[in-house]
Amino acid sequence: MRHTPAMESALLAIMNSHAGPVGARAATRHLREHGFDISESTVSRLLTDLDERALTRSLGKKGRVLTEEGRRVAANQRLDSHRASSFADALSLRDVHDLVDHLACRRGIEREAARAAALRARPEEVAHLRAMVEASGSARLQERVAFHKTIGQASHNKQVQAISTTLFDERLDPLERLLIMIGIRQDALVRWDQEHRDIVASISDRDADGAERFMVVHLDGMIRETEQFANSGNAHLIHTLLAEIDLA
Ligand SMILES: [Zn+2]
Repeated sequence: MRHTPAMESALLAIMNSHAGPVGARAATRHLREHGFDISESTVSRLLTDLDERALTRSLGKKGRVLTEEGRRVAANQRLDSHRASSFADALSLRDVHDLVDHLACRRGIEREAARAAALRARPEEVAHLRAMVEASGSARLQERVAFHKTIGQASHNKQVQAISTTLFDERLDPLERLLIMIGIRQDALVRWDQEHRDIVASISDRDADGAERFMVVHLDGMIRETEQFANSGNAHLIHTLLAEIDLA
């Protein structure tokens, strides 16, 4: 049986929380308590592997301890998993209030994304954005889902790109489709499409102020339409559709 990265992370975490050395038998017991179906020989191989990578050190019969590097890796893994779970929690939207908060957060990030894209987008990215907003038929729907993600990447601001990658993770594509459904029901889609074209025209003209302004207008409109749609007796529909979006 091969060990997995998840087993390795769990073992590092277990060793990090132990004051003294941990033997293969105790490590196996702890891993099983954490739900891993693992044999003691697999744990021994994993520990040898960690020794070779200088993450653990053998103290003979007493067992093993983490090296300084091992503690550093374990601490980083813990921070990474906290960050991942806090993002997952933030992106798990439950009601209209969460959805409006999400759009308001996007407005803050995306106005900077649009500004930076106007200043930094490569010519081929500008051409791609132009082609996107001119798309018709089924490509049009694709464009509506991918447009905001594309602007985020074209910002060439590492901070904006990192947040944008998280906000527009593929698992959130259904959210973008939910917004499109609201746009259709509120008769706002034609206006939103025009706003996409206005944003791209400003980026094309290297007009950072214009790109930012149109992005804010666009997100303001989406927030307004979402609230109006919810207030006209459709909040339950939004809640049902949000519940179907699975971030796990
Ligand atoms: Zn849009």
